[in-house]
Amino acid sequence: LRVRSLEDIDALDPNAARGKILFVSVPTTRARNGEGYGKAVGVRWGAADRAAKVGAAAVVIRSIGTDASRLPHTGSMKHPVPGQSVPAGALSTSDADLCDRLLDRGVPVSMKLTLTSTALPEAISANIVADYKGKDAPDEWVLLGAHLDSWDLGTGALDDGAGAAIVVEALRLVKEHLGPARRSLRVVLFANEEAGLEGAKAYALAHANEIDKHIVAMEADFGTGAVYSTSIGGGPEAHARFVAIARLLAPLGVTLDEQESEGGADTSPLREAGVPTVDLNQEGSTYFDFHHTANDTFDRIEPEHLAQAATAFAIMAHALAEAPYDFGRRTPRAGK
Ligand SMILES: [Zn+2]
Repeated sequence: LRVRSLEDIDALDPNAARGKILFVSVPTTRARNGEGYGKAVGVRWGAADRAAKVGAAAVVIRSIGTDASRLPHTGSMKHPVPGQSVPAGALSTSDADLCDRLLDRGVPVSMKLTLTSTALPEAISANIVADYKGKDAPDEWVLLGAHLDSWDLGTGALDDGAGAAIVVEALRLVKEHLGPARRSLRVVLFANEEAGLEGAKAYALAHANEIDKHIVAMEADFGTGAVYSTSIGGGPEAHARFVAIARLLAPLGVTLDEQESEGGADTSPLREAGVPTVDLNQEGSTYFDFHHTANDTFDRIEPEHLAQAATAFAIMAHALAEAPYDFGRRTPRAGK
């Protein structure tokens, strides 16, 4: 039984849904900034939960991705309450297209699901933190984050090996070419972003008494693309103070984005506690072709673009740490 949104699932008559496999057909649109993913990913998160409530036997979503391959994308979903969820799978975009064509022609589609996924016990992992001490205010930080974990279909070269490389290389570039700034630079490689932001939450908890010393948080978690724009989200004074700093990246082709920075996933607990964020937006038109699939492998890395991104992060982080002012505090609010 095909539906085209989560709301369509809610609206199903349980008599029609009972015993059926629901096929949720929602395409992910391609966009440089990845906004199509943001619009589609709620289907992956919520479909099984909604399908259980209308008595469906199982749910199969069109894989959340922009590719046309036979490799489905994995990702987190709402944790099922034991006994109140249904089996759930993702169908590759090419196979979803086939189902759509058959259903459009009124041909009945039957599926047999063999799902081999399993939940393993939790294990201990750790954040890795590296500081490059500031000259004047070593106990104030500009934070550069990325995450260490990845989905196990591929090797996680793009998500988020590339981001980890960007922030580590940015710190190395600062040390080699610029030297220490007024404040400290801190690289954090977070544990377990993908399955619940556990490393990010643990970091915010462990540093709760010095959250106010985090001047700005930045994050690299969008693959291997070059940076094309930058934005800030902070106190009312932040944007005016940021304009001159953003201009430093103009030789790299980076423009100032007037929209408020949203920050990333791993910096969201800091943002919610009021820490300003700076986004360095990477070209991501093809990111969701590979993200969370067996195709997320090292051969996707674009060395020139990755080097540009590391350079942009280095210049930005050093300039923020060197600034004679801060960027205020943002109004705490719930994360995405
Ligand atoms: Zn990631």
